[in-house]
Amino acid sequence: MIPVITIDGPSGTGKGTIMSLVAERLGWHSLDSGALYRVLGVAARRRGVALEDAEALVPIAETLSVRFSAGRVYLDESDVSTEIRTEEAGMCASKVAAHPRVRAALLDWQRRMVREPGLVADGRDMGTVVFPGAPLKIFLDASPEVRAERRYKQLKEKGLDANLAQLVVDIRERDERDRNRPVAPLRPAEDAVFVDSTSMSVAEVLDRVLEEVRR
Ligand code: C5P
Repeated sequence: MIPVITIDGPSGTGKGTIMSLVAERLGWHSLDSGALYRVLGVAARRRGVALEDAEALVPIAETLSVRFSAGRVYLDESDVSTEIRTEEAGMCASKVAAHPRVRAALLDWQRRMVREPGLVADGRDMGTVVFPGAPLKIFLDASPEVRAERRYKQLKEKGLDANLAQLVVDIRERDERDRNRPVAPLRPAEDAVFVDSTSMSVAEVLDRVLEEVRR
């Protein structure tokens, strides 16, 4: 069996950064499943499909032409790396991700990403739904305020617009929807290692995760 490490948790906990660093350290492949939902949100908008319209979203999800390459993300071969990182794209992703049939349509795509020598996958349901048999599952959390601050810095660094108070409101709203949806609600897998990164640096979280990898 090709090993998989799952890193789940709410937005702004640094999952993506930790996932990339762990993958790099181990020389494994990586999967940013949030990017997949973000790309689907962009694809839906481009086709004028309402984010509430599950019926119309399913065929788009089933035929989604998305490619990850050298840190960039492509939809139908157009580079959407910057477009998918806005808060609005995150909100759209959270809306399309709330439909059970849309999630089901993306399941196989995600599982096909498992390749030798291993995969590090980050998202909301990697450990609970997509890779329930993964030998190591991490659940990364942090307070909403700290997560909003981190997001604020990230957006500013990228030269994107940001408002800290609004980010806290958005993060709480997105958490609410991700935690309370009927399918794949955001929660730690029973066998997940819980890491609260509120007062931890990236290096400390990385060390903590690598300590679990070595066990
Ligand atoms: O992780 P990221 O912020 O990029 O995810 C964007 C949105 O996609 C999340 O708020 C969540 O609603 C959805 N998502 C999900 N399942 C995943 C990854 C992301 O529902 N595995």
